[in-house]
Amino acid sequence: MNESSHNQTSKKVLVIGGGIAGLSAAYELARLNVDVDLVEKSSFLGGHAIQFCCKADDECQKCGACSVEKRLLEVIEEPRIKISLGSELTGLNRNGRFSYTLSLRPLRIDPKKCTNCGVCLEKCPSDGAIVRGYSKNNVPLYAIDQNHCLFFKDGSCKVCQDACPEKAITLDQDNSQASSEADAIVVATGFEAFDPLTRSWYGYGIHKNVITALDLERILRQKGEVLRPSDNNACEKIAFIQCVGSREPKLQHGFCSQVCCTYAMRMAQAISHRSPELKATIFYMDIQNCGKDFPDFYMKCKENIRFVRLAPYDIFPGEEDRLILRYSDEKDVHLVDEAFDIVVLSIGIMPGLSNASLADLLKIDLDEYGFFACSDPLDGTPTSQKGVFLAGTAQAPKNIADSMAQAGQAAYRVAQYLGVMPCPK
Ligand SMILES: Cc1cc2nc3c(=O)[nH]c(=O)nc-3n(C[C@H](O)[C@H](O)[C@H](O)COP(=O)(O)OP(=O)(O)OC[C@H]3O[C@@H](n4cnc5c(N)ncnc54)[C@H](O)[C@@H]3O)c2cc1C
Repeated sequence: MNESSHNQTSKKVLVIGGGIAGLSAAYELARLNVDVDLVEKSSFLGGHAIQFCCKADDECQKCGACSVEKRLLEVIEEPRIKISLGSELTGLNRNGRFSYTLSLRPLRIDPKKCTNCGVCLEKCPSDGAIVRGYSKNNVPLYAIDQNHCLFFKDGSCKVCQDACPEKAITLDQDNSQASSEADAIVVATGFEAFDPLTRSWYGYGIHKNVITALDLERILRQKGEVLRPSDNNACEKIAFIQCVGSREPKLQHGFCSQVCCTYAMRMAQAISHRSPELKATIFYMDIQNCGKDFPDFYMKCKENIRFVRLAPYDIFPGEEDRLILRYSDEKDVHLVDEAFDIVVLSIGIMPGLSNASLADLLKIDLDEYGFFACSDPLDGTPTSQKGVFLAGTAQAPKNIADSMAQAGQAAYRVAQYLGVMPCPK
């Protein structure tokens, strides 16, 4: 007998979060003929990973970026999945099923009318007010950011609405609410990237050429090459600093983010392949060497990338917009000052900022770091609340492939819970 008390023919699941974990859970459930309400708070599906570039050199580096693109397309083409962008869970009750309320921020760009022509972005006088999605499969491809839009500041501008040839834009719309019911919930709200402004000594936000690995992913995805942010000139030397916001036990960030060694090495490798004149150096504590292909990959990277087992003490501006990293030599005898064009901070994976309030609403627990706690460490998907399951980095740091695998596991557990799949004996 399954654990679900009610007897419905068509089951429905609320999936919270439209990153790769939420997309994968939704897709796997739809394939089991379960209806899905996929709720995403931002204007685009795909989460962090849809912003990543392909890191292939002569061969695929298995970074996972293309699987996000593929899964996104599968989800938007799947009729059993209802997508609500700009929406968040605001209320939840349980009477057998889960009854829930969503707050809905209007998209203001009608996806049925928008043809992705980009006239809105071209004509907009305010920087950042029209945002383009990272994937051509984001529907709609454009969104309006109220924080930068002059219409929301003082009502002074409707240029995009007037210019849109399809009349797809209606700026003046109110927030709304929607209520519905579901038989189970998957929490896939992902992670917050570590905020480098909290480590002021790295100079992020002060020196233009100090960027995060997430910034670099976006630059590579959008421009395909690395230019110095300060002047858009080509660069010769790029440094990666590892473990920014990870493995700092004194600051309660004692955990390893699991992905930074591999993503930095893949990015450095991809950059060296695209621009052989650009030399990459990785400053690291130790390399978290995991996975059966990793040792070979590490050896291959050592042919092109310089690895320095030290954390720089200081970063300060040098001549011609360069950055000087100060570190001690490997024998810890002399101080070395070395100039780089760009410094990339390999920021880690932190728990979502709204995890505590969502955990309250769902009546589930958080772990000691603030990630959602699973009630079965050998499974990783069930929570202390029956019918509520976890997927992806909402539960713990992990890469794209592991997020997808855990989402598949969550879908399988949900299906067992709903009785649409036999329980193992
Ligand atoms: C700099 C960097 C580079 C990386 N590079 C790689 C790489 O090359 N390869 C790799 O395999 N992994 C990489 N990773 C890890 C990868 O980003 C994660 O594995 C992946 O993004 C996890 O997906 P997710 O769905 O769990 O979370 P997310 O990508 O964070 O998606 C969560 C989604 O949920 C939404 N959401 C959050 N809260 C709510 C809410 N309350 N209601 C509704 N929606 C909500 C968010 O807006 C977001 O869209 C990298 C990580 C970082 C930080």
